[in-house]
Amino acid sequence: MERYREINIKYYYHFIKAIIAFMALAIISSHGKSTAEYLFLGALIIVLAIVLFVYPKHETFLMKIFIILLGTIYFYSIFYIYPETWSSFIFICLIPLISILFFDAKLFYFSAVLNGLLYSAISSYIILFESNPAFNYMKTDIIGNAMNFLGSQLLLFFIFWLTLIRIKKQQLYYEQLQQSEKLKTTWQLAAAVAHEIRNPLTVVKGFLQLYESDVSTPSDRKDNYRLMMDELNMAEKVISQFLMVAKPDTGEKSEEIIDVNQELRNIVDLMKSYSYLNDSEFFLELESDCYTCMNIMEFKQLFINIIKNAIEASSHGQTIVIKNREKGKQIWIEVIDRGNGMTKEELRSLGTPFYSLKSKGTGLGMMICYNIVLKYQGTIDINSKKGKGTAVAVKLPSCSRR
Ligand code: ADP
Ligand code: MG
Repeated sequence: MERYREINIKYYYHFIKAIIAFMALAIISSHGKSTAEYLFLGALIIVLAIVLFVYPKHETFLMKIFIILLGTIYFYSIFYIYPETWSSFIFICLIPLISILFFDAKLFYFSAVLNGLLYSAISSYIILFESNPAFNYMKTDIIGNAMNFLGSQLLLFFIFWLTLIRIKKQQLYYEQLQQSEKLKTTWQLAAAVAHEIRNPLTVVKGFLQLYESDVSTPSDRKDNYRLMMDELNMAEKVISQFLMVAKPDTGEKSEEIIDVNQELRNIVDLMKSYSYLNDSEFFLELESDCYTCMNIMEFKQLFINIIKNAIEASSHGQTIVIKNREKGKQIWIEVIDRGNGMTKEELRSLGTPFYSLKSKGTGLGMMICYNIVLKYQGTIDINSKKGKGTAVAVKLPSCSRR
């Protein structure tokens, strides 16, 4: 970066030298002007040269304004002192370009407004008081000149605005890229650590099982062993779920056409055994035949996680509704519960790794869901009210049955 800056500055100085030399040459090669005018222009060029040379070492906002002011004065002076060179009118129109060099929206507006005011002032003055016939072109078509001026300002604004948007987009993209790269390495590191922890856990668990089944072990100690096993099982669950999210995508998982209604029915049947504990009741409102192209295991995992959350949030006997419908090229699958719901804060934290309000939760379920849905260019929208319930809407691309 530093090196690029050095090279850029070298070119900047060469460029400035060339511009100043050009300006000076233009003044020297002209004739027929008064000494005062020459002195004024000469002084202006010298001040401009100094400011432009000092600028790279003092890149302040004030300095930029100063450069814009000096440039503006210079071009208007040229315009007024050399009326027979009508093309200097073009330079006046291009004055806001100076601020485009600094790429600052505020400076651009400042310079555009200043230019508009100065143009109005100088053209009014010329039209009303100027007797020099060289300015006749300004007088014969007042409206045409004003229109040209205004049009050029609009054009410059348009160019500036478009470029600004493009640059902002690029900046955003670059930041996101950096962010995701950082995340990726963090995840890879964490996954490697998690993987390493799993092996010793298995060994410890094996020994605990051995001691627990040993007849000579006193029963109070057996209880302790069982407690330790439970904790280890929990740790294993967290690790395997975490690895499922963090595992780099091998891309080998096969996708197939999934009959959404059929699969949802299967999943609900499976979950019913789980929900006996809470005796939740399921209502399936499956409208039309919908199909989506996904890996079947991922589809199951997605809805098992969401439905499990709905069951866990519900208390005894509450109903859980599962709906689907096709909307254009998407299918919407909603899982609605009347359980304890979430506050806005809780909703915002949902999907961040290890965020869980359950004593036995891993806080990875929703994260897995988000990852799966993202992979298929779908979305998850969640509506929730504390104490009222939650509606989770999964949108997936639909595909027709071949
Ligand atoms: P876990 O279920 O292991 O806690 P999840 O990522 O599945 O992890 O969910 C994270 C948290 O989001 C849960 O602990 C719960 O507080 C909240 N949550 C998720 N789904 C619902 C729901 N349907 N109703 C209320 N809270 C929910
Ligand atoms: Mg969960």
